[in-house]
Amino acid sequence: MTYDRLVCANCAAPVSEGRCRVCRANRERLQQENNFFAGLNPITLIALLAVLIAAVALLAQQTA
Ligand SMILES: [Zn+2]
Repeated sequence: MTYDRLVCANCAAPVSEGRCRVCRANRERLQQENNFFAGLNPITLIALLAVLIAAVALLAQQTA
């Protein structure tokens, strides 16, 4: 997700320029969300994959 093209509702300037308080608040929030998802998603996907593999392995053992 990018905020480069977001225009501030308060000052009508690009949020990424941070011209007003609302811009800076939005920019900070979006950056935090980006960091959050960038840090969380790969780990979450790997964890889900590991759980899935474990479940399949358990099922395979029970049916064998
Ligand atoms: Zn603004």
